[in-house]
Order: sequence, then C-alpha cells, then structure tokens
Amino acid sequence: MVIAIDGPSGVGKTTITRRVAAILGIDYLDTGSTYRAATVAVLRSGVALTDRAAMLQAVRKCVIDYVDGTVLLDGEPIVEESRSEAVTRAVSPVSGDPAVRAHIVALQRAWVAKRNGNAVVEGRDIGTVVFPEATVKVFLTAVPEVRARRRAGDAETDAMSIEAIAADLERRDHADSTREVSPLRKAGDAVEIDTSAMGVEEVVAAVIDLVTGAQTPSKSSAPAAE
Ligand code: C5P
Repeated sequence: MVIAIDGPSGVGKTTITRRVAAILGIDYLDTGSTYRAATVAVLRSGVALTDRAAMLQAVRKCVIDYVDGTVLLDGEPIVEESRSEAVTRAVSPVSGDPAVRAHIVALQRAWVAKRNGNAVVEGRDIGTVVFPEATVKVFLTAVPEVRARRRAGDAETDAMSIEAIAADLERRDHADSTREVSPLRKAGDAVEIDTSAMGVEEVVAAVIDLVTGAQTPSKSSAPAAE
C-alpha cells in the first residue's frame, strides 16, 4: 500500500513519514530529495536554469536513487549538498519544469514498484498526481510561524534568521502552488491534519489510525453473519 504524505515545507512531513514507515516496517521516499538531486545535477553541469533542454539532458544523464533516507547521485550520497542554500534557491525552477518533472515522477513510481508498491511517500503532489490511487492520503499543514520555527532546526537554515526562513518558505510555497504542472494542493480525498499545536507522536498516531482504518473492512462492507 502507498501512504501519501503531502504538504508545504516545514509542516513536519519528513519526521512523520520516517516514523510512520518505521512503525509499519516499510521503506519511505522523500520526493523532495529527488528534485534536490536533479537540481544538484543541473547546478554541477553549469547549464542555465532557463535552458530547459540542457537542464533535462543534465538530469537524464545521471542516476538518482534514495536508499534508507539517503539521496544518491550516480551512487554518491549528496545529502549535505542537496540541502545547501544554492540548491534550495534553484529547486523550484528545476522542479517546475514539466519534462524534468515527468522524468522524476517516473523514477518515483519505479522506486515504489521495486518495493512491491509498499511505501510511505512524502511530497507535494503524491496524492494528486504521482499516486492518485494511494490507500491513505494525508495533507499536513501548520501556521507560517510554526513552520518557520521548525525549519530553523534544519541543517540548511543554519545561518538564517527566522524572518529569512519564513520569506524563503513563502517564496517556495508560492512557486510550488502556482506552477502549471502538479501544483501543491490537497487531493479531494486527502485527510488534512493541522500540526501547528500537535506533537510528533500525536500526528504519527493520527496517520497510523488512518492506515489501520484503511486495512480494516468497514462494517457495511463486511459479509453479513449467517
Ligand atoms: O521537501 P523539500 O523542501 O526538500 O522539497 C524541495 C522542493 O522540491 C520543493 O520546494 C518543491 O519545489 C519540490 N518538490 C516538488 N514536488 C514534490 C516534492 C518536492 O515539486 N513532490
């Protein structure tokens, strides 16, 4: 089963996704990392972010993988580089390119297929585009101040003020929600959880409840007792 966890930056997607996957004993995929890896490939190749054909070529030339929470580019772990300020700045134009996106979405689907279709997958468009048939769809939200504070604990925001982090989140959310392909939006059948005032374990428990509910046939669909 696929469990889709979507939402903007700083809502706690990665933390929740990891915990849920550990409890269920299945792998998880942070799809943001795959777009960050594509961005590393583009930046390393030195092509302009406006040269779409060259950008796609740079991305197609390399092998992107995600193993036990570590993103790999041509077999090399690039976690730190993929979280650098330069990559964070360039990731929206790269992920907003339709051809790059089609390539990365195919990669994400193949990654899950390799695990027999069992994974917790986090991103922006998992429940809407990548796995619209996901068994459980969750859309996490949180108020902007909480998201900026949470993001302040991440490695890539080391030297940034809360105001600068909030401005960066707002810029990326805007780019991610208004782009033409796969914009960030809640799937009609996703369950929205506002995590602003919730602890990690509380959110994890809510997601596990949804998984358990999806695995247990409802009374109405159970065969009637003889
Ligand atoms: O989750 P993270 O902040 O690492 O994602 C980095 C960027 O990757 C996002 O700002 C967004 O542009 C892109 N992304 C996306 N679709 C996803 C996951 C991430 O476009 N499913």
